[in-house]
Order: sequence, then C-alpha cells, then structure tokens
Amino acid sequence: ELAEWQRALRAQFPIITAHPELAYLDSAATAQKPQAVLDAVHNYLTTTNANAGRGTYTWANRTTALVEEARDRVKLFLADPAPERSTVHFTSGTTEGLRGVARDWLPRLLTDGDEIVVPVADHEANIAPWLEAQRELAGQGVHIRVRPMPYQAASGDYDHTALAELAGPRTRFVAVSHVHHVYGADMNVHRIRRAVGPDAVICLDAAQSVGHLPVSVADLDVDFVLFSGHKAMALPGAGVVWARRARGPEFAPGGWAGTPNTVGIASLTAALDWLDAAGTDRIERWTVALAARLTEGLRRLDAYEILGCQASLAADSPVQRRQGIVTLRHHAIDSSDLGFILFSHGFMVRSDQHCQGGAGEKTGSVRVSLHVHNTVEEVDRLLTVLASLG
Ligand code: PMP
Repeated sequence: ELAEWQRALRAQFPIITAHPELAYLDSAATAQKPQAVLDAVHNYLTTTNANAGRGTYTWANRTTALVEEARDRVKLFLADPAPERSTVHFTSGTTEGLRGVARDWLPRLLTDGDEIVVPVADHEANIAPWLEAQRELAGQGVHIRVRPMPYQAASGDYDHTALAELAGPRTRFVAVSHVHHVYGADMNVHRIRRAVGPDAVICLDAAQSVGHLPVSVADLDVDFVLFSGHKAMALPGAGVVWARRARGPEFAPGGWAGTPNTVGIASLTAALDWLDAAGTDRIERWTVALAARLTEGLRRLDAYEILGCQASLAADSPVQRRQGIVTLRHHAIDSSDLGFILFSHGFMVRSDQHCQGGAGEKTGSVRVSLHVHNTVEEVDRLLTVLASLG
C-alpha cells in the first residue's frame, strides 16, 4: 500500500520520470519539484504577477494576499498551536535567515555574561552567524560566552545529558538542527527544552527536516524555525523564519523590506500543500525505510564506513534511527572519485565536503540523500555498484 502510494507520487516529478536511467540521490542539497509546484509557478506568472503591497488593481492585491496567505500556510504546516503569537518572515533561505536572527535579534536578547550554545559539528550556516554576533557584541563591550554543543561521538546525535549539565541560568540561546545534514541523525530536538530549561530560546535549523518528516513547533517546543523552500520542493530563494513571540524581544527585522520573492512564495505555498497532501509522516516512513535498507546493505560491505553510525556497525546493535541521509566513505577510493564513478552509473550524489562545522568531519565523504521519489530498486542498484568496488 505504501509502495503504491509512492509510485503515484514519483510519477508527479517530471524531471525524475524523464530520466529513468538516472537516480537523483542529492535531495539534501536541493529537492526536485512535483508538477503541482511547476503549475503554481506557471499559473502565478500567467495570471497574477505583480508586486506586493499598496496595489490599486487586482493583480497587485492578489499578490499581496498571496504573501499573507503564505504566512498562514507556513504556520499551519508547522502545526503552530498559537498562530496569533508567531510571525513568519520570508528570506532567501536558511543561511540568510540564520544570519538575520544573529544580526538583528540576538544582540537585543543578550547581556554581558550571557551564554549561548552553538552546534559546532552542524552546518556552517548554523555556526558562523552566532560566532559573528559574539564578536560584534564584544566590540560593544558585551561579552558572551559560547558553549560548544556536546555530541555523542558514536552517533552524531546531541549529548542531551551533557547539555543539561552545561546549561545554566545564563544560557539564553541554543542553536540546534533538526536532522543532521551529514549523518542523517534525527537530533531528538524535543529533548532540548528539558535539557536547557524553560527560559532559553531554542532556534531550530529545519533545513533537512521540512518536507521529509512532520515538523511540529508545539511538539518540539522551539522559538525559531528556519528552512529553505528549495529543499522542500519549492523554488530557490524562498526561505522561512518562523518566530514565536514568547521569549525575548519581538523578531521584527529591519532592512528586509523591498520586493518579496513572490514567485518563490507562490511555489512555497504549493509545495507545502503538496507535502501535506502526500503526508510528511508517510514520506518519513518511506525515506527512513530506504535509508535503513541502504545502511543494512553497507554494513555487509567491508570497504565502507558509514559516518555517524560507527557504534552500531561495530556492535551488532540496531541502526540508530536516521532520516533519509546516509554518508559513506570507501577505505581506498577518494570520495570525489567515488562521486564520479557513481555518476558514470547514473547516480547523482554529493561528494567531498559538506559545509560541516570545524568540529565535524575533516575528510571527504559521499552523501546519499533520499526523498519520496526514490525507490527500493535504486537503493539496491546503488548497493550492487558499491559492492563491485569493494
Ligand atoms: N542548514 C542545513 C542543515 C543545511 O543542510 C543547509 C543546506 N545544505 C543549510 C542550513 C543552508 O541552506 P541554504 O543553502 O538553502 O541557505
């Protein structure tokens, strides 16, 4: 039944069905777009295109409404339990959003002696802005202590126990990611609140989770959620900052005025509609099953190491719960070379470095990232090719 559901969804990706000889395994970099998103873009540009705000004519008014409705759509998608107490800002993507929070909002939260927790082995976009904010504040005589997020060495997950120990009354802000972009680990963000207490602001980089699994701001108890539309099947250039007005000053960034990316925002609404109709819980089940199959297959191949999975490889323990990202390394073949070899067999993967922070992996690797259009057959074919390189 899940397989039938998947076949119907796969058929909705024109770029995928046009190339049966290729397997797109790089959705963590950017996602392919279903027909409904392409239609929404075409429809908007052929019926409505105008700038938003201050319109005296239909197209402009419709565009203004489209942007406002998109904010509500985002809140609905994130299962926001109190939409009247949150705001949604559109950015170009997660990177710009995180920089905006760090530049425009964080300095207003912090005072001398406060502490922030930075996820030093996550994506660079979720590290550098916080360190820059610290330097900026130091220039103004406000000294902030940066506490590196503790990780569990074997799994790549956060070490929630160690986090609870290091978090104190001065811990005002904690940056986390929902799903690790290299290890595919589900970072158990719902456990962060208990570790850091009721008053700390939790800022969630959901770049690798939105579109892949249900993301509920109520369940996760976070204060900011950021994601990139292009990784969630919308166009590039349409990112989101969801901010809850509860802890600290209101998030009302200046300097973000100007023409919004109306086409991107139209595509985002269509993408979120599509994802909700497909069911993010089922998308998660599908991609997690594929990732587990790939991981199990790789465990039988001595030539490969799976990043963030060493413990379960060594012991015969079950594979740690991971989302649809599996990153591997061949003991002898350079990862860029492995990327080229895989493409000669039709597999599109990400190889070499993955924008991981300084506390993360230093050597290159090959990242296989899955989405709902990927199939069991693609995973098995990949395993066959990988086995032949052993
Ligand atoms: N955070 C994470 C976890 C990511 O995987 C990425 C994209 N690789 C980003 C942030 C940055 O996203 P964008 O390039 O769309 O700004």
